[in-house]
Amino acid sequence: MNMLSNKVAIVTGGNSGIGYAAAEALIAQGADVVIVGRRQDAVGAAVEALGERAHGLVGDVADIATHDRVAEFVKGRFGGADIYVANAGVNVIKPTQAVTISDYDSQFGINARGVFFGVQKIAPVLRDGASIILTSSIASQKVLEGHAVYAGAKAAIEAFARSWALEMKDRRIRVNIVSPGPVDTPILGKLGVPDDAREGFEAHLAKTIPLGRMGKADELGRAILFLASDQSSFITGANLPVDGGISLI
Ligand code: NAP
Repeated sequence: MNMLSNKVAIVTGGNSGIGYAAAEALIAQGADVVIVGRRQDAVGAAVEALGERAHGLVGDVADIATHDRVAEFVKGRFGGADIYVANAGVNVIKPTQAVTISDYDSQFGINARGVFFGVQKIAPVLRDGASIILTSSIASQKVLEGHAVYAGAKAAIEAFARSWALEMKDRRIRVNIVSPGPVDTPILGKLGVPDDAREGFEAHLAKTIPLGRMGKADELGRAILFLASDQSSFITGANLPVDGGISLI
């Protein structure tokens, strides 16, 4: 039986990696899913691959007007939404001395401010009993080289989520976090790992992960589905690591 029949979800960064896998998992359980991404061609291709219950909107999550447009779209088309996955994110790895103001502003703009104002603008069109899921990272807790700015932005959204879990309790809206460890997605290419070095990089990384391998996007998609559905009906304000155990060491 479908867990999400008649439900409407919004997934930012839904054209790639973890967001795409989440959209796939939500659609497989009967939801309509609006994916929000910044590249028209990538959003169009993802919508086509995801099928008729996928809908695309193009916009930059760092631009607050994007969230107004998304809210207006779901209100007009579906009367509201039931699931909001604030997942879009970027990672620029640099030691602190090399970080420019623009690096800092862009990571906080997308990874923290985009999440804050996304939730602020989307919450009014969420139906009571909705579920909000934020994609953070184990980097917020575990010190990784060159990750100070990224870690700070992800730590900020974890703090937002705890506040929102209480702020929205009277509407029975649950707010939770997934914290991925290393997951094989296009983000690795965007970090500058060349395709021909990818295998060696992944093999090296795998040795540092207790379960002995990197995660797969669909493993994150299933964790997001769990938090989105009634399977997690008594969970709010939680931070679920999906990381092969790497945060333990
Ligand atoms: P990904 O494949 O690069 O996906 C990121 C998505 O976010 C892409 O669709 C990207 O669009 C979108 N995005 C980035 N900036 C945006 C903006 N300003 N406006 C709208 N969309 C934007 O990477 P991923 O691994 O799936 O990452 C998803 C989330 O997981 C991120 O928040 C990331 O920080 C987090 N995470 C990932 C890992 C990992 O190892 N993969 C680990 C910990 C946390 P484009 O396709 O146009 O770039």
